[in-house]
Amino acid sequence: MTDRTSRRSAIKAGIAGALAVPAVAAQAQTTFSWKMTSAYGKGSPFYMEGPGSATDLAKRIEAMSGGRLKIQVFGAGELIPALEGFDAVRAGTVEMNHANSYFWTGKTAAAQYFCAVPFGLNFQGINGWLYDGGGIDLWNEVYKPFGMVAMPCGNTGVQMTGWFKKEIKTVADLKGLKMRIPGLAGKVYAQLGVDVKLLPGGEIFPALERGVIDAAEFVGPFQDRKLGLHKAAKYYYTTGWHESATVGELLINKAAWDKLPKDLQAVVENAAAACNVISEAWCQRTNAEAMEDLIKNQGVIARPLPDDVLAKLREVTEKVLAEGAAKDPMTKKVHDSYMAYMKKFVAWSAYSEGPYLDKIIKV
Ligand code: CA
Repeated sequence: MTDRTSRRSAIKAGIAGALAVPAVAAQAQTTFSWKMTSAYGKGSPFYMEGPGSATDLAKRIEAMSGGRLKIQVFGAGELIPALEGFDAVRAGTVEMNHANSYFWTGKTAAAQYFCAVPFGLNFQGINGWLYDGGGIDLWNEVYKPFGMVAMPCGNTGVQMTGWFKKEIKTVADLKGLKMRIPGLAGKVYAQLGVDVKLLPGGEIFPALERGVIDAAEFVGPFQDRKLGLHKAAKYYYTTGWHESATVGELLINKAAWDKLPKDLQAVVENAAAACNVISEAWCQRTNAEAMEDLIKNQGVIARPLPDDVLAKLREVTEKVLAEGAAKDPMTKKVHDSYMAYMKKFVAWSAYSEGPYLDKIIKV
């Protein structure tokens, strides 16, 4: 942490500085230079580059703070390996990390709920729970023992179920299938006989093409097309039951956070909230364009999973989530809050967004 105070004159600091009492003026001129690591490689679209990405967040924070909070952004592997952000922020080696909380379920199981719960809330719903339903407070409660705070910063919107070489007609078709699928959804598929493989993004295409795996999920049409997955499998199962609105996480060392003046904390919170919305807006457009291309020009067969397959996946998901909640009181507390919110959200949606999307909005 390299905080430094420049003692510019009140004239240079401008009218606000000139009117402030000296102690406040000195604090207002303190500049902070922070480091932020990412779980994604330098140049990765959405995560590292583009509207609402880690790089965009740093630019917004610097602009909004008038240069008082500068953040140097490091892609995966540049400063630390991809998934060591949790430990690095905890230790204070870096002040911030930009990733997804489901990477940290090995540290604290409740982290899953702040990223993606299978059959969980959509973008509107997860933001409702996080910002207005106590979700962010619980997130900070979960991280308190680790000396960290967190907030949402980016969202992919609903992901896709994924790419399959063969058609899925029944639950039995899943048995023996070798599939790239990380996280909790992998545990659910495994219970239905899927041979779950964990592969980083860059290894998915060659594995699928060579038949090392039969199926794979990654993100959505834009990112999946970039990997070339449509060239290795033709069946694209749509609306992802497993990642309904995957939340990006801005993880911050609590001691560093506490050193920021209140106005700079507000800058970080508001820049992160802006990136949360702006990144999802970018996904809406780029995915719509990519999906149209995949279907019209690339011969992709896009369809939802059959209802009975989804029903079975839901049944197993509920069992897996209940088992997780039974093992750990903090996970249970977060699970109960999430599910209580979702119950209200679903009930209200039946009168609001649900029928609107189904029956009213047309082109
Ligand atoms: Ca995914």
